[in-house]
Amino acid sequence: MATPLTCIRCGGAPVYYRPYSGERLCRSCFLHSIVEKTRRTISKHKMLSHGDRIGVAVSGGKDSLTLLYILSDITKGHASEIVALIVDEGVEGYREEAVRYAIQTCGKLGIRHYILSFKEAYSLTLDEAIKLRRDNSLAACTICGALRRRAIDQLAKEAGVDVVATAHNLDDILQTFLMNLFSGDIRRVVRSKVLDEPSELFTVKRIKPLMEIPEAEVALFAYLKGIPFQRASCPYMNESIRSEVRSMLNEMELKHPGIKFNLLRSYLKIISNLKLETKSFVCSLCGYPSSNQICSVCTILTKIRGEVERAKHPNTTQT
Ligand code: SF4
Ligand code: ZN
Repeated sequence: MATPLTCIRCGGAPVYYRPYSGERLCRSCFLHSIVEKTRRTISKHKMLSHGDRIGVAVSGGKDSLTLLYILSDITKGHASEIVALIVDEGVEGYREEAVRYAIQTCGKLGIRHYILSFKEAYSLTLDEAIKLRRDNSLAACTICGALRRRAIDQLAKEAGVDVVATAHNLDDILQTFLMNLFSGDIRRVVRSKVLDEPSELFTVKRIKPLMEIPEAEVALFAYLKGIPFQRASCPYMNESIRSEVRSMLNEMELKHPGIKFNLLRSYLKIISNLKLETKSFVCSLCGYPSSNQICSVCTILTKIRGEVERAKHPNTTQT
């Protein structure tokens, strides 16, 4: 008679098979394993200090809401306090729903939230910025990423947090790593650290507590916990090669379980051993710390606004 398949930890009914470790887990042991793994990541990389005020960047998607649940669980009974930082990029028919889920979850968990829209911060929504660019030389995600990082930084300062936690999971980290390698710009690899001390890009320390959790397990955690989250994808996501890199990595993992964790180990070794000279400037337009004379946000905004002006006055010669 075949041995019944049971949870490897408690003997209960399994709901998940973890291919890279060979474990079969029941609902409760699976949820526990994710919380414990996140706790270990935080401690291994010394992400938090006693009494830190943590700002969680919440988009309303599965990753950020899962992170909010896990951090509120881990910090229960500790001196640390959590607040949520919500950025509304302004994507019609997409962001409103996500922001609603984010605010709802904060209410349920008793977490205070701070919100800032692109419209308030930059006087234009992401939709408007994308309409105003005249060609595709500025990808939607490049505009969105730079403006959102700055908006989160501003919210973090307003909320007085010591550290910003973002919900990048294992897949996000690996996709970004490979995309940076493919772009041929090794400086970006160095700058994409998993633990960012205040630097030219951020004025508040950043951590990625879900960096060792595969995306599929974050999704399962959210599903099993019954966390309501936005399922629709951003309408601009296919402008980036990220989806191609995601499919490639998933195919590799399917054939060679555990290969993503090997790649993560390589990535961590590379960023800890690779030191490149980086110059620090203060942006001459906005005064923000920058790795160039003009920061990425001002470069993007100047380009978009310049294109609008040129469209209004097509006969003006540029000097
Ligand atoms: Fe922004 Fe790109 Fe993500 Fe859409 S897919 S929210 S444009 S980074
Ligand atoms: Zn600037």
